[in-house]
Amino acid sequence: MYVTSGHWEKYGEDSFQPIKTPDPNEEFLLKPMNCPHHCEIYKTKPRSYRDLPLRLAEFGTVYRYEQSGELHGLTRVRGFTQDDAHIFCRPDQVKEEFMKVIDLVLYVFKSLGFSDYSAQISLRDPENDTKYIGSDDLWEKAESAIIEAAAEKGLPTVTELGEAAFYGPKLDFMVRDALGRKWQLGTIQVDYNLPNRFELEYIGADNQKHRPVMIHGHLLGLWSGLLPF
Ligand code: ZN
Repeated sequence: MYVTSGHWEKYGEDSFQPIKTPDPNEEFLLKPMNCPHHCEIYKTKPRSYRDLPLRLAEFGTVYRYEQSGELHGLTRVRGFTQDDAHIFCRPDQVKEEFMKVIDLVLYVFKSLGFSDYSAQISLRDPENDTKYIGSDDLWEKAESAIIEAAAEKGLPTVTELGEAAFYGPKLDFMVRDALGRKWQLGTIQVDYNLPNRFELEYIGADNQKHRPVMIHGHLLGLWSGLLPF
């Protein structure tokens, strides 16, 4: 699953290595992220355009081998539980779904009294496209969906090149703590790549197969701190 998703290729050697058992044909991996698992849930049955958006959420416990120098208190650790959600939708639903997740992030911030926050649109590094998977065309679609959704919400944003995830651009929310330090707390990502890699499909109104778009949403990220994936 992590080979299919591309995570193994990008992070495999720098992450927890497989646990071996006395059975030479058996290896176990500590789960590093939930996204591929949610793709597998999507694939458990045929989906129709009428089923979408399909919104999956869980408090998922994951393990990542962070460098010892990068570990930081309770905010950057090697095992944590993250509030994780994935929305599978039709291409025509991306912007609306993305805007709904922005609303949810702002609702959470308001409920917790975080008034000093900022939003950052994290795009590809135009100088180094080897860091990313997927075609230019899909990246451009995903980047413009985020830019348009943030603009329509009237969200003040800054744009950073080179801060995207390897599979798609992100909208990152930063808050300040009591000492004035900035922390990334929530992140929303538009992803056309994992649905391709996992060959996700739905049957459209035209009775043909189509590929859904995936939106990753880690709203609090409070347990995970700065997300490397
Ligand atoms: Zn995800």
